[in-house]
Amino acid sequence: DRTALHRLRDEQIGAVLFQHGLEPSTTNFDFAGRFLNGLEAPLVRAAQELLNAKGTLTDRDVERIVERRAASAPPDKLTRELESKVADCLAAVGDATASTSAYSTALGEAADQMGSEPGEAYRRLLEVTLEVAETTRRIGGRLERTREDTRRLRADLERAVREAEEDHLTGLPNRRGFFARMEEMLARPDAAPFALALCDIDNFKAINDRHGHHTGDRVLRFVARFLREGLGRRVTVARYGGEEFVCLFEGADAEEAADMLDGCRARLRERLLRDQTTDLPIGRISFSAGVAPVADDHADALRLADDLLYAAKHAGKDRVVTSSLPVAELK
Ligand code: GH3
Ligand code: MG
Ligand code: MG
Repeated sequence: DRTALHRLRDEQIGAVLFQHGLEPSTTNFDFAGRFLNGLEAPLVRAAQELLNAKGTLTDRDVERIVERRAASAPPDKLTRELESKVADCLAAVGDATASTSAYSTALGEAADQMGSEPGEAYRRLLEVTLEVAETTRRIGGRLERTREDTRRLRADLERAVREAEEDHLTGLPNRRGFFARMEEMLARPDAAPFALALCDIDNFKAINDRHGHHTGDRVLRFVARFLREGLGRRVTVARYGGEEFVCLFEGADAEEAADMLDGCRARLRERLLRDQTTDLPIGRISFSAGVAPVADDHADALRLADDLLYAAKHAGKDRVVTSSLPVAELK
């Protein structure tokens, strides 16, 4: 029976989460469900590849798989609606063409008739003219309605794209939004060199463990705002995943970017946080970061920033590490 089936499914999902030490979050639950039903080949393949490589999946892996899935799925309903509007438009244009050509044939016939039966020719002329006026009015109305629908759909589509590039927790651009912004910057004809930083909050798991996930979420929102406001308008701050942020420094080299970010780190470090709901002290938080110059390949820059972030963690956290060497010289 259905309830038993549901319970069985929930148990299987729970077993997957437990087996990999995944948090019982909505994202992970949803992922495990999709993984188990096996209907989405790309999702299953991505998970299977990771499982083959490392034998397990982390929260971060799941987040990436789910994000990639969302990135590749077009907003279905909107796409279909838009397609149907385009079809409406084409049909209306087709009808208009047919009506014009019928009118022109009728005009020709009436002209031929004009000499022999002028009265009858006149009556026909009047008739087809009224007919075509009515058809044109109807087609005009149809096109006007389609135009309004299309305008509304276009706004919906723009909103869907914006939402797909936004992180819901912090309101910052998400990984997808970040890549879109970076592509945009690299594609500019006058593209100046810029730098990027990967920042990872130190010992964040302990905050979740001590104060709970909700407080952890609030800390993430706080750090997001702190970075965005602290780095100013010339720097794009995005949520890269979990407790990691990525910053794009326009018109700054790696050294300047690292200085700016380090200032921000030091100011954050001075703040004593308190849990608003329980009034318990959370204490100080810090982050570690790796800053790399971006030449033309952002994959290289990201890899270098990740290595430098790792070095910062290894050297004791709460620091910004950079390398002023261009990417090519480090290889
Ligand atoms: P390190 O200093 O080495 O970076 O240690 P860490 O504890 O910050 O890093 P670790 O990778 O061990 O843990 C990151 C934690 O971040 C685990 C995960 O549960 C938590 N996390 C990831 N995303 C979210 C989120 O959206 N909300 C909350 N509250 N926690 C999250
Ligand atoms: Mg991390
Ligand atoms: Mg961390």
